[in-house]
Amino acid sequence: MASGSSGNCQYIESEKGKILIDGGLSAKKIFSLLKTIDLRPEDLDAIFVTHEHRDHIHGVGILSRKLDLPIYANYKTWEAMEESLGKLEMKNIKKFSNEKGFYFKDMFITPVPTFHDAVNPNGYTISDEKSKVSLITDTGWVSQEIIDAIRDSDLYFLESNYDIEMLKNGPYSWPLKQRVLSTQGHLSNENCSEVAREILKGNGEALVLSHLSIENNTTHLAYKNMEDTIEKMNLKVEKSVVDLDIATRFEPSRLYDLKEKK
Ligand SMILES: [Zn+2]
Ligand SMILES: [Zn+2]
Repeated sequence: MASGSSGNCQYIESEKGKILIDGGLSAKKIFSLLKTIDLRPEDLDAIFVTHEHRDHIHGVGILSRKLDLPIYANYKTWEAMEESLGKLEMKNIKKFSNEKGFYFKDMFITPVPTFHDAVNPNGYTISDEKSKVSLITDTGWVSQEIIDAIRDSDLYFLESNYDIEMLKNGPYSWPLKQRVLSTQGHLSNENCSEVAREILKGNGEALVLSHLSIENNTTHLAYKNMEDTIEKMNLKVEKSVVDLDIATRFEPSRLYDLKEKK
């Protein structure tokens, strides 16, 4: 529904569950985004948090209070964010360990540790009987463990944060440039291509490029970079081969019906 440093929030629904991954916008904004996909906020079952940065948790506390929603995050992330979320009902504080996956309703949730300047960030893979979705953003690099965890997904929501030339020549201060470029920063378009080369099969899987930087990337550059990568793999950007899309800042991208794909 929204992606990038001004706020992250993604919606995933299975047969039995409706969840948000992150809630990094105001509750008001999240409510209006939910409306655009015809979802009533009361229907949500939980929020899963990736890490404590404001662009991922801004509205999480308020949503939990307004909707009596459980918030799931790993132990260290809870320590880092609990204060900024405000007062919460004990029963809505759900802690997990990054070491193992767990069921939430009919979804099997696997936390996937990422590399980022937060205390203990993680992405997620979420599977049910029919499909698997992987969300990996806010990571300075992608390890073999991440690749193995996300392989065989029907939808990849992958960070394509910056174009390396734009970042180097852009407005950021040198320390900030170094932060973004580091292995604890964000994933470049080129890094994202390296991941794509490992995982794409061309069986109609969806690839959504996400968390694009406004200053150091353009949708055109990110898309073109991935399109070239896909073509070099002798695959095609086409719904039945690799279904490529970009998650924009505030406007929901289309809904992916993964049941329909099978
Ligand atoms: Zn972020
Ligand atoms: Zn972050």
